[in-house]
Amino acid sequence: MKVIYSVTDMYEAAMQVRSRGERIGFVPTMGFLHDGHLSLIKKARSVSDWVVVSIFVNPTQFCPGEDYERYPRDMRRDVELCRNEGAHIVFAPEAVQMYAADHAVYVEESDFSSGLCGALRPGHFRGVATVVAKLFNIVQPHVAVFGMKDAQQLRVIERMTRDLNFPVEIVAAPIVREPDGLAMSSRNKYLTPESRSKAVRIYESLRHAERLYQEGMRDAGAIRDSMASLLQGATDLRIDYIATVDYETLKPVDRIERAALVAVAVRIGGVRLIDNTVIPYISRET
Ligand code: AMP
Repeated sequence: MKVIYSVTDMYEAAMQVRSRGERIGFVPTMGFLHDGHLSLIKKARSVSDWVVVSIFVNPTQFCPGEDYERYPRDMRRDVELCRNEGAHIVFAPEAVQMYAADHAVYVEESDFSSGLCGALRPGHFRGVATVVAKLFNIVQPHVAVFGMKDAQQLRVIERMTRDLNFPVEIVAAPIVREPDGLAMSSRNKYLTPESRSKAVRIYESLRHAERLYQEGMRDAGAIRDSMASLLQGATDLRIDYIATVDYETLKPVDRIERAALVAVAVRIGGVRLIDNTVIPYISRET
C-alpha cells in the first residue's frame, strides 16, 4: 500500500491503474478511522480492483465556530488500519495542496442540502460537494462508497454526481454501530463517560420510531413527539432536530406512506451527534 500526499502523484497513480483496465474504488474520509470506515473499504474492495482511501479533514465543510482545529487526527494509526483492510492507496493531501490561497470555485447542491443539517450548518454541504467533486477529479474513481450514517450527505453526493455527470457509481453502505447501538463516529471520542451513556438514547429513539411504525402508527408528528420525550429524558441532551422526510425528496412528510428517513441530530455535552433510520426499511446497500 502506498501513501500519497501530492495531488499530481495521486492523479498519475489513478491514470496508471486505469490504463491497466482496473476499476478504482474510492472511500473518502476525514480520518480517525473506525469500523464504520473499514466497512466502506471492505465494500469498495468487493466492487473494484484498486481501493483508494482519502484522509482529509476538509476545512470548507466546517462552519465558523465548529471543531475543524480540534477534529481528531491519527494518521499513523489510520494508515495501518487501511493497510490491514487491504486498501491500495491512502491519499492524504495537506489543505494547501487541495485549496489554493485564492480558491474561488464551489459546488452547490441547492435542493437536498437545504433542510436537516443543511439548515443548521450553513455552507456545510457546499464544502462537502466541493471537496468530493475535487477528489473525484483527482482520484478518478469508477465507484465511490459512502455511509448511510450521513444519509443527507449521501443524497447530496448522488444528486451532484447525477447533475454534474460525474462518471462515478455511488454505492451506499449500512450504518455500523457499537454493541449498544450507538452509531460509530470519529466524534464519539469527545464524549465523556457520562455523555457516552446518554448517547445510546439516540439509537433507542430510532428503534422506538421503528416500533411505532410496525405497530401501525403513520403520523410523522406523533412519532417525532414520542421520540422527543424519550430523548428529553436525558439531562444535558439538546435536540438540534428530529425530522421525518421522504427518502427520495428529503422533503418533510406528515404521514409515512413510503420510505421515510427519520433523522436525529443532538448535542450532548457540546458534542454534536447524528443518526438515522429509514422506515419502512429499505436496503440501500447496492
Ligand atoms: P467521515 O470520516 O466522518 O467524513 O466519514 C467518511 C465516510 O464514512 C462517510 O461516507 C460516512 O458516512 C461513513 N461513515 C461514518 N461513520 C459510519 C458508520 N458508523 N457506519 C457506516 N459508515 C460510516
